[in-house]
Amino acid sequence: MTIYGIDLGTTYSCIARVDSSGRPEIIRNRLGREVTPSVVYFESPFHVVVGDDAKKAALTHPDLVVSRIKREMGHPEAELDFHDRSFTPEGISAFVLGDLVGSVREATGEEVKDVVITVPAYFGVAERESTKAAGAIAGLNVVNVVAEPVAAAFFYGVHDTDATRTVLVFDLGGGTFDTTVIRLGPGEVTVVCTDGDHQLGGADWDDRLAAHLCDLFTEQFPGTGAEDDEKFLQDIALHAEELKQSLTSRQACRHRMTFGDHTAVVEVRRDTFEAITAEFVERTMAITERTLGLAAERGVDHYDEVLLVGGSTRMPAIDTALRERFGFAPKLHEPDLAVAKGAAWFALHESVRLRRPVGDDSPAAEIARAMELPEGVVRATAERAVTNVVPRAFGVAVVDPADPDGDSFLVNHLISANTALPVQKRKQFVTAYDDQTSIQVLIYEQAGSIESEEAEHNKHIGEAVVSRLPPLRKGSPVDVTFKLDADGVLNVDVLEIKTRGTATVDIKIGDLTERQVARARDDVARLT
Ligand code: ADP
Ligand code: MG
Repeated sequence: MTIYGIDLGTTYSCIARVDSSGRPEIIRNRLGREVTPSVVYFESPFHVVVGDDAKKAALTHPDLVVSRIKREMGHPEAELDFHDRSFTPEGISAFVLGDLVGSVREATGEEVKDVVITVPAYFGVAERESTKAAGAIAGLNVVNVVAEPVAAAFFYGVHDTDATRTVLVFDLGGGTFDTTVIRLGPGEVTVVCTDGDHQLGGADWDDRLAAHLCDLFTEQFPGTGAEDDEKFLQDIALHAEELKQSLTSRQACRHRMTFGDHTAVVEVRRDTFEAITAEFVERTMAITERTLGLAAERGVDHYDEVLLVGGSTRMPAIDTALRERFGFAPKLHEPDLAVAKGAAWFALHESVRLRRPVGDDSPAAEIARAMELPEGVVRATAERAVTNVVPRAFGVAVVDPADPDGDSFLVNHLISANTALPVQKRKQFVTAYDDQTSIQVLIYEQAGSIESEEAEHNKHIGEAVVSRLPPLRKGSPVDVTFKLDADGVLNVDVLEIKTRGTATVDIKIGDLTERQVARARDDVARLT
């Protein structure tokens, strides 16, 4: 059975499979569109609407419409209430997944069961788990999650499996931005490093343009109170995105705005738009520079290709900036579909890998036959080993030497961001006080985009406790080992050297309880 690839985006989502001619194929939604807005409208206690219609409903029912929920993934506590029922970010995302799968059912008659879902490279363990939970809630078997830039690189490199190439994936979507350096060679897809800003995306351009439109209106008609009118603002917000997209292909566009008895027709020029949003482009360039710097430290000084991914890379200002700043000649290749298509390839890769006993490649032949695909294509896809990096640092809390008696602490990272997975690191610490009979190791994951030992830049994700120790002298050695597997599951071992007291924990971060999943699954079944 086909494993489908799903790009569950912040603003748009998309589903694809590799078709029997060996090409990735996007399955269109009920409206015939390739991408579906990741927007959910809780129309009534009995019905939920997803996609373009939900996006339109934001005009009339802003309080019943949820968008950009991906930003809340990994925070199951960030529940939202509709019609006296609360929904987790995972549950809300499940409605989007359910809609995509429904489109496949209608278009092809096929019931989707197994899927690969893409996640941003910077997603930590909690967000990955959340994404899997969203799939489970939608009644899907999530075979794996794959980093979006890896999927994009897969799509780009799938027919060229002999050469070794280094690519920079520049992904500017609707709500997030990331840059990733990937080495693509025979038998490998290796992430060299990744960076980004997950609060920066096309929506920031929309908001800025909307504010500009509002200014133009109030300049023409001062004192109408339009700038405080929720409906007027919603309307502008919706049209700002369309206007922005038109400015990608045109030098200037007219826009009509009505409030009460007043109608303003304004012209927005591309250069004006670019001037008011230049700071956002600058932010993407600064992050790109940081990524290139890190890659250079790892021996990468030449790029064979710069892949533009994400709908916002269609904006000409991005191409111009990358050329002027770095001398790149970026390639725009289906920026809003590349991730989903790559996910379809990755799904094929997984279907072979999961069935492959080590050293036996017959599943490739079998799958090739079953899917009516050329065997060479299946084999070449399957043979690529994907090596990822951990996007964030992991560490433990240690007493702040500047404040040995106080409550403040620092985080000492055992695993730094951008370390290749799987990884194992051991470090020796010492106890902080006399007569300790237990050792509590507090485990932290880097929270911001920069690795920092300051407590507030890290997030507490778990702890390991060694107890019932004889009173230890201050300074007694304790070994802490962090093991992070390829799927990002963290295993922590603590060993108190003198008595050989130990504690081991496996950390699955941000997990929903089975009850939460079951309840949410019930909601999806009931409301769609
Ligand atoms: P995500 O993966 O974050 O959901 P996408 O990669 O689908 O996002 O990109 C969506 C963003 O791309 C939206 O902000 C959308 O307005 C923008 N976009 C799409 N087409 C264009 C275009 N022609 N010009 C400018 N921006 C565009
Ligand atoms: Mg995307």
